Amino acid sequence: MFETGVRQFRLALGMAQGRRLDARNVARLIDDVLDTLAEFGEPGGDVAELIDGPMADPQARAELATASLRRTARRLAAQSPFYARRFTAADAAPDKLEITGLRTIPVTVKAELTDRPGDFRCADVPACLATRTTGTTGRPAEVWLSRYELDLWPALGALASVLRDELRPGDVLQVNLSSRATAALHLASTGCRLAGAGFRPLGIVPPDEALDSLAEGGTTLLQTCSSYLAELVTAARRRGMSAGDFRLRRLVVGGEVLSPSVAQAGIRTFGVAHIDDPYSMTEIAPVTGRACRQGHQHYDLGLGYTELIDLHTGQPAAPGSLGTLVVTPYFPYRDCMPVFRYDTRDVARCLPDAPLRCELAAIPATSQILGKADHLLLLPGGEVITPRQLIEAIEALPAEPWPARYRATVCGGGIRLTLPASAIAGYGEAETVRHFAAAGLDVDLDIVGDDQAASLRRTRSDLHETTFASQHALVGA
Ligand SMILES: [Zn+2]
Repeated sequence: MFETGVRQFRLALGMAQGRRLDARNVARLIDDVLDTLAEFGEPGGDVAELIDGPMADPQARAELATASLRRTARRLAAQSPFYARRFTAADAAPDKLEITGLRTIPVTVKAELTDRPGDFRCADVPACLATRTTGTTGRPAEVWLSRYELDLWPALGALASVLRDELRPGDVLQVNLSSRATAALHLASTGCRLAGAGFRPLGIVPPDEALDSLAEGGTTLLQTCSSYLAELVTAARRRGMSAGDFRLRRLVVGGEVLSPSVAQAGIRTFGVAHIDDPYSMTEIAPVTGRACRQGHQHYDLGLGYTELIDLHTGQPAAPGSLGTLVVTPYFPYRDCMPVFRYDTRDVARCLPDAPLRCELAAIPATSQILGKADHLLLLPGGEVITPRQLIEAIEALPAEPWPARYRATVCGGGIRLTLPASAIAGYGEAETVRHFAAAGLDVDLDIVGDDQAASLRRTRSDLHETTFASQHALVGA
């Protein structure tokens, strides 16, 4: 049975001693799982335990983290010019690193990665594929991946997806992400190949083309970003399309705040049970987070170390307070251009200091991601307003202005919120102010023309890719 293979594999992951893994072994394991599923049917309910490992014991977790951090630091000190300097400057000895002492090593910030990318390249491995961040915040960072990473990451991802029944032979995965998201596309493409599924990369094309493909092309899985999902829902409604027009069994978004309003609309329009909203980021791959049914984000323990750091003190965030996610992917899972204590600037809230009671309770978690640290609003009374609060309140307006376009600043002790006129259409300013007050947001509205909407807040769906079909429609209009 494949359980034995997966258990041995988990053991190998936990005991990794600096040798690289053989991605072909993972691929063979996927084949075994597929053969077993074909013969015996659905994977059992204890499969999560197989994938995530028995991680409930805090001491075992700490031992795994300490050994993994030391192993990673040892390699970086020898192979990464940036971290050789950083560890020396911090007087950090890789072999003696302790979790509690990690804070003596400064976090790595995006500017360091964009200013001196060559210094992050490990000397002992050739670079194979460059991937650039396609986020909406500033200059893109370029991360090089080795051939080993390009083989290993999709194999690890596909194994987990097959065991969780998120990916089956015969599935067709449509991806509406920027075509420049080379790593994400490679992962999806290779993962589908390993699982015997079809892969349809479309890019951020005009929503009508994506809908046609969803409705006619046998697509069963959709991966996109929240803002493009919002555009798809809007376009589908305009065309009178609903759940009966699609065959989707899974819908995954990432990289942006997904509001309950857009999520519910997506669920209704596309006929899925829920929308998966995992956490991932180019710079910290292959570490990811998974959302549980209680809305926490749980972070992969085997592949990296995740900290939630207070935004002001650099100390671990206290229960109930906000922090930025700082992530260290472990060697041998990150190879070519690794980062150590990378400050993602993604803000989450530290959960209360009490045992979790969700289905992923054995895996450390934070609140869901609340937005970028640089976009927090600090009110004079000390209250902090997160982008998630604003986006959720805006996208809940009756006009359904999706994706939310806004600008928010602190002005005269309150929030000055700039919205395009269509966001409050038919609702009126007084009613809109009451709507935000009910969400705990005391706002002073500034309404501008719709022609300014796109300049208020950038979203990933703004990375439009033209096609000849859409150009034809424009010319013929
Ligand atoms: Zn949870």
